[in-house]
Amino acid sequence: MISVEHVTKCYGDVMAVDDLSFEIDEGHVYGFLGPNGAGKSTTMNIMTGCLSATEGSVKIDGYDIFEEPYEAKKRIGYLPEQPPLYMTETPEEYLRFVGEAKGLGGSLLKKQIADVMEQTKITEVKNRRISALSKGYKQRVGIAQALLGNPRVIILDEPTVGLDPIQIIEIRALIRELGKTHTVIFSSHILSEVQTICDQILIIAKGRLLVFDGPEQLEKRLLAPNEILITVAMEEEEIRKILTGVHYITQILVESKDAGLHMAHLRTDHDNIYEVSRAVFTAFATKEKVLLEMTVKKANLEDIFIELTEGSEGIKKKEEAMEEEEGYEI
Ligand code: ADP
Ligand code: MG
Repeated sequence: MISVEHVTKCYGDVMAVDDLSFEIDEGHVYGFLGPNGAGKSTTMNIMTGCLSATEGSVKIDGYDIFEEPYEAKKRIGYLPEQPPLYMTETPEEYLRFVGEAKGLGGSLLKKQIADVMEQTKITEVKNRRISALSKGYKQRVGIAQALLGNPRVIILDEPTVGLDPIQIIEIRALIRELGKTHTVIFSSHILSEVQTICDQILIIAKGRLLVFDGPEQLEKRLLAPNEILITVAMEEEEIRKILTGVHYITQILVESKDAGLHMAHLRTDHDNIYEVSRAVFTAFATKEKVLLEMTVKKANLEDIFIELTEGSEGIKKKEEAMEEEEGYEI
């Protein structure tokens, strides 16, 4: 339905999007996940023809967004990060204005306005000024205008940003509902949001596509445990010596703990972590050394997301933030 081919966008020296390619098929809900500055908005602006690309092409249902914008744009509805709402108008007036700009009119437009207002649950506020609406309602008006013209694809840029928790739940429910009848692409920097709503996730960072997978596959792939933690009462050198015979271990990181104890992080690329645990246990037992503690560490998806998008620096930052008890929100 949408094919993005080698899209690159430079703002002067800043490469906001770096050779991005992917295919969007009809009938799914896609989540564009990435930290701030990842290039999500830039990509969406290019996909919807609101911004030109430095290189590459975007085709919507076979129509090039830059060469055949009329045909291409008919098939997409877009809610930009900052929707251009006219504050002095009512939702109904605003929707009529947008509908006419999309080439609709007469009784068809009237019916469509009634339908999209129903779908986004704004009928009850249709005669209030947009400026008087809550942020959640404003966002709904923005989504309603994207739905006008009944486009097959709906693209929403960070639709839940700045909303309160109740409004977030409502907008997420609306996105799920839209997903039953449309192909939906929305962006977010919140992992859990994308994980619960989407059936396909695209993780982008620094303008590049890092992961394109379903949430379950992603979790399975990413959450395979690959680290064993052991605590022992011996020095680093001795730990390393004992473990030299365990072939599956690819990396050993040792940290000092209190009272002469050391904790070692043992990384492995072996599929069966428990087989590695057994080999580690045997290596220590053979030398008649005691393992005070041994655990298989399951990575959490949030850490993996931070590591993917920011590298190990990101994990360090998160740990520091947690130590300072300030919390760390991605
Ligand atoms: P996201 O939506 O993922 O937060 P953006 O697409 O807004 O990311 O931005 C990607 C990068 O491009 C950032 O480094 C941002 O600072 C830069 N950028 C975005 N818009 C402009 C602009 N109009 N001029 C210069 N740099 C920009
Ligand atoms: Mg953005």
